[in-house]
Amino acid sequence: MILIIFGPPGSGKGTLSSAIYERYKIPHIETGKILREEIKAKTKLGKEVEILVNKGKLVSDEVVNEITEKRLSKEDCNNGFILDGFPRTIKQAEMLENFLQDINKKVDLVINLIIPKKILIERIVGRRTCKKCGNIYNLADIHEKIGGIEYKMPPLSPKKPDVCDKCGGELYQREDEKQDVIKKRLKEYENQSKPVIKYYRDRFLLKDIYVTSEKDIMIKKVFDILTEEIKTKDSINQEIREILRYLETRKDYIIWAGFAQYAYTGLKPSPDIDIYTKSLNSKEQISADFQCKGWKKIPYKGFYEHHDKLEKNGTTFDVIYSEPATKLFFTDRTKLKIEGYSLYFISLEVLFLTKLGQLTTAKRSSEKRERDWKTVNTLRDKINIEKIKKLMSKLPDSFWRVGLV
Ligand SMILES: [Zn+2]
Repeated sequence: MILIIFGPPGSGKGTLSSAIYERYKIPHIETGKILREEIKAKTKLGKEVEILVNKGKLVSDEVVNEITEKRLSKEDCNNGFILDGFPRTIKQAEMLENFLQDINKKVDLVINLIIPKKILIERIVGRRTCKKCGNIYNLADIHEKIGGIEYKMPPLSPKKPDVCDKCGGELYQREDEKQDVIKKRLKEYENQSKPVIKYYRDRFLLKDIYVTSEKDIMIKKVFDILTEEIKTKDSINQEIREILRYLETRKDYIIWAGFAQYAYTGLKPSPDIDIYTKSLNSKEQISADFQCKGWKKIPYKGFYEHHDKLEKNGTTFDVIYSEPATKLFFTDRTKLKIEGYSLYFISLEVLFLTKLGQLTTAKRSSEKRERDWKTVNTLRDKINIEKIKKLMSKLPDSFWRVGLV
């Protein structure tokens, strides 16, 4: 499981990350901490970073990317990780996407902790730390309703005012937890995280979680979400595996699979079947790719422009370029004669779009995605299910079950 956690300072990111670590045994990776460690260890990179930090400059994306890549390449990240403090910029988010793509993985979920500024400030300002043992208390007693959401966080006061229960040490308010500093830090967080949050929201990966309660309740809330997420993902992967397995038994067509199954499952297509998973390529490029793989293009006027016929070892194959096919299906269905192959394809795409309800594709613009998504929703009711059912009756039940629901 690969998680990213966003949240303003004081929203409980650290606590949640530790709890997730305890339960799922995936490392909690804090980029800021790694940077500080590099500086402490006086590594080559650490020295470079130190110079920048001393000059009051921001560490460049290249440097941050480098240390993050290095950290994520360690063995303990094989089963996933939680990222905290990364990515902070679009460039960093893109690097992460590329890095994961190379190792056949993807971000599963981005948790976005939301808490109204007013409450957050109250909470941070109410914090008291023990000078001797570091134990943390909170004097703020929060119980209010904002925007229809109820926030309830009881105080965690010491038995005796200003004295630590544990060690009798004196309690104090940290400098960086004073109101003015907090306000500045929150503003910084907001400006910095906005575009990156949008980046993940556009990819339907973002899950907003309102920090409404004390930590134990919040941890349970997040665990419930993760459990549900894992369950859904497993069943989707299972269905897609079924489809892919079935497709592999058919040798009478080629599929340009577009973005979907790769984006969802991270499954590399079987080498025996030419399933394409790149998404940005033009029809010409795809066609050239196929030709490199030994396919010969047959002069053929397809029933629409995104349809080619290719030949290899005496067998002809149809190529449907699915993303345009989907678009065509969405925008002008009447032009498209529903034939076996295209239907397959479209049903796959519709399946991915409708059933999964979320798309992650690096290159499609968000507007386009949003439009597609809207169209799918409006089209879902208009699809002539009966007609398609008839055409699809030749397909095995497993495909039908997942093909159009
Ligand atoms: Zn103490």
